[in-house]
Parts: sequence; structure tokens; C-alpha cells
Amino acid sequence: MSKVLVTGASGQDGYYLINLLRQQGCVVHAQSRRQTHPSLHRDGASWHVGDPADRDFLDSLIASVMPDEIYNLAAVSRPIQSWGAPRETADVNAFVPQDICELLLKYKPDSRLFQASSSEIFGDAVDHTQNEQTLCAPKSPYGVAKLYAHRIVGAYRAQYGLHVSTGILFNHESPKRPLSFVSQKIAYAAAAVSLGLNETPEVDETGRPILLDGKMALGDLSVRRDFGFAGDYVEAMRLIVQHPTADDYVIGTGRDHSIEDFCHQAFSLVGQRWEDHVIVDPGLMRKVDSRYTRADTAKIRSVLNWQPNVDFQALVSMMVKAQTAIIRGSMS
Ligand code: NDP
Repeated sequence: MSKVLVTGASGQDGYYLINLLRQQGCVVHAQSRRQTHPSLHRDGASWHVGDPADRDFLDSLIASVMPDEIYNLAAVSRPIQSWGAPRETADVNAFVPQDICELLLKYKPDSRLFQASSSEIFGDAVDHTQNEQTLCAPKSPYGVAKLYAHRIVGAYRAQYGLHVSTGILFNHESPKRPLSFVSQKIAYAAAAVSLGLNETPEVDETGRPILLDGKMALGDLSVRRDFGFAGDYVEAMRLIVQHPTADDYVIGTGRDHSIEDFCHQAFSLVGQRWEDHVIVDPGLMRKVDSRYTRADTAKIRSVLNWQPNVDFQALVSMMVKAQTAIIRGSMS
């Protein structure tokens, strides 16, 4: 029975990964900086509270658990947030993965690592699709720190023969996505409209209700993303770690949709026209976000035989339904 450590386990991917690992009979150790919220608590995982950027904590965590596998999900996970905390972003997103490699050498060199890399390492990619060979030109502290981690994990693999892999994750969403992400904001607004709300208690990053006078404010609607479902992506993570040879893999759907497409899909599901409920606020336009991401998934499909099960329509539907249930529950 594998003993597995998941860092950053209280987030979206941690939720799906822990469920998968438990189904597969693994003994799961989970790390978070805070006592986990009761709604996030999963039976069967042993939780360790501490900061992975604290080297002493990380050392004793790995020394005490002695995991067969580590999934490093801990990160400042929004590019926009990384501008407000560039030093913390470097510490967590870049140096924690390096520290983990060092600690594997020190305590358990036969342990396997999955490092959550990101399509943000490509920046504004000029290629039509992005794969493991695409030129990296990150444009935010988040992307730069993730690129450092991506490269350093590869360097430890080459230098010491460690079984350390990365997954270059494209956007993946789910009902567990925080409301600070545009996908969930849209799902929430569509659900709120369907329940007859004109104004929501939840606010956006400017402090404005997500829905005000029946309208939601968004930035650039033409930005295109490769949107997948988190539950599918954690299966890819597991396959990567299980493969006899460590490597880097792009994880995505191979299809892209605009933010406008997301709005269209979400509001159509509740019988509404998105144009009646979405306004563009130039103040929400981002200068540095990648404008276009689409994964070339040839490698992971052929080597690991992985492919996503949930398509764009099913993903948006799942998110809108979940938000509808949450809002309805809060109204009763
Ligand atoms: P989440 O933001 O949901 O979870 C990340 C976790 O990291 C949080 O739950 C938090 O746990 C921990 N964390 C956040 N900030 C810090 C910090 N400053 N120091 C230490 N720990 C911190 O992210 P996801 O689950 O969506 O993503 C998992 C990983 O995949 C991340 O590394 C992310 O960058 C990467 N990724 C995700 C993509 C996506 O679309 N979801 C796309 C590309 C990459 P706590 O507060 O409990 O300590």
C-alpha cells in the first residue's frame, strides 16, 4: 500500500486527488497551513498543519512520513495574486519544489514526486498549441517561479536519477474552484440569475457584488483558455507518477474556449442570454495574463493513454448546477 504525501491539499486539486488516492487504497498524508475547514475535511487522510516554505517543517514532515509518493500542489495559485506577493510566490512556487528534491535525496531517494507545473510558464505563446517543447516566456511572478520549479525538477532528475516528474497543467475547473476565478464567478452569476437574484452577497475582487442590478462585470471576454475538469487532471497526475520513467507532460484537453463562450454556455443552461447579464469593465482587463492557451496533448495520450472524460459543456453544467445548489441552500 503506497504512502502518499499531498502538499497544498486543501485546494481544488487536493480534494479530487485525495479522493482518488483513497479509492486506490493509498495511505494519504495531507499538508495545509491551516486547520482544514470542516467542509474540506476528508476522512482517511492524516492532516499535517504547517507552512511548506518553512524548511524545518518540511524537513520534519518528509522525515516523519517517509512517503513513497509526493504530489506538490502547494502554490500561490493565481498569477494576478503573485504580483501582490512576489517574494512569497518565489519561496513557495519555486523553492519548495527544490527543497523537496533535496529532502528526497536526504531521506528517501526512491520516493516519487509529481510537481504541479503550469501553462503560465509559456506566457503569451506564439505557437498555435503548446507542448513540452514550446518556448517558455512567463510573464508574471507566478509563471516565472513555476518555470524555475519546472526546470529544477528536471535538473534533479537528470543529475541524480530521481523519479521526479512535472505536469504542465492547463486551466482546470470544478465545483471546488474558488469564486475568485472567472470560471466560478460566471457559474455563480448564472446560478444566481436562474434563482431570480438581482444582487449577490458574494463580491468580486473590487468589492462589487458579483451580480449587481442583474449584471456581472468581467474583463477581456476574448481571452481563450484550454479549460478541463480537475477530476480528470488528478488521474493524469497519478498516471505520471506510476509510470516507470519520470518525465514532463502537458495536461490539457486540446480544445480552447473564450471567456465569452463560458458565459454563453453558463447562461444558456439557465435559459438566459449572457449579453443581458455581462458587462465589460476595462478596469478588470489584465496586462500580463496569457491570452491564449491550448494544450497539445499528444505525448500524454500516447505514453500514458490518458484523455479527459469531461468536456467543456459538461464542465460548465456541473459548475452551474453546483452553484445553484449552494445558493439555494443559503436561501433556505
Ligand atoms: P488551489 O489554490 O486551490 O490550492 C493550492 C493550495 O496551496 C492552497 O489550498 C493552499 O493551501 C496552498 N497555498 C496557497 N498559497 C500558499 C502559500 N503562500 N504558501 C504555502 N501554501 C500555499 O490550487 P489548485 O488546487 O487549483 O492547483 C493545484 C496546483 O496546480 C497549484 O500548484 C497550481 O499552481 C497548479 N496549477 C493549477 C491550475 C488550475 O487551473 N487549477 C493550472 C496550472 C497549475 P493552504 O492555504 O491550506 O495552506
